[in-house]
Amino acid sequence: MFFKTPPASRRLSKIQIALLFAAYRALFSCPTNSIGAEKKNDLYKKSLDSFPYLMEENIYHNGFHSESSFGATSYFIKDENGNYLIDSPRFFNRLVSKINDLGGLKQILLTHKDDVADSGKFCDEFNCPAHIHEDDFSSTKHAYATIWRGSKEIWYNNEMKIIPVPGHTKGSVVFLYKDTYLFTGDHLCWSQSLGQLIAFKNACWYDFDVQTKSMESLLDYNFTYILPGHGTPYKATNVDEMKRELEKCVKWMKA
Ligand SMILES: [Zn+2]
Repeated sequence: MFFKTPPASRRLSKIQIALLFAAYRALFSCPTNSIGAEKKNDLYKKSLDSFPYLMEENIYHNGFHSESSFGATSYFIKDENGNYLIDSPRFFNRLVSKINDLGGLKQILLTHKDDVADSGKFCDEFNCPAHIHEDDFSSTKHAYATIWRGSKEIWYNNEMKIIPVPGHTKGSVVFLYKDTYLFTGDHLCWSQSLGQLIAFKNACWYDFDVQTKSMESLLDYNFTYILPGHGTPYKATNVDEMKRELEKCVKWMKA
């Protein structure tokens, strides 16, 4: 798909500029590079430079989704104890240089085997480890991958908890950061069409009943913001609202 870049001589309204900026951002998030722009103007370069862009507090959206992760969204966390990638974007020199500007990478945390993408190249570039649950380990092909074991939650550090949620894949995990943000991979997201939280019933590679139990176990945790690999993020106004939505999702999964 190509969209036409307006001629430089044409003055654009603020709304037109915002729409064009959003269109360019979609271009840089396209996993197959199948969206193209006819001409590369300043706005094109500005939107390219906007990745990774700050979503919330110290959490960034990477853009540059990888075809090998089925176009999954990955995130960057700028943290004083060392920066994280949550799942992996496409390895792209401009993105690497922006990550360097933000202080580099200390670790890569992978929610599951589908979203490994170019994590090996990022490990090589930043000399950092990537972590994945042992039940999804065989699909990581690079030497730096280390593993988590078992079905119990573990504290990765004071702010990051790793919670195994088998179901979508056997080794799926979610990451709870600062008791607020839940990075869910392909376990849980908001559905715009259904207007509720969902799991992917038709894209469950291990066991949907097991995934339903994993979903129910998340009711024991407090968080307000879901940041998925696929699907729409969801931000609740408070913990109680999130629990109500999660309960609705569990009920929907059991129906
Ligand atoms: Zn997946």
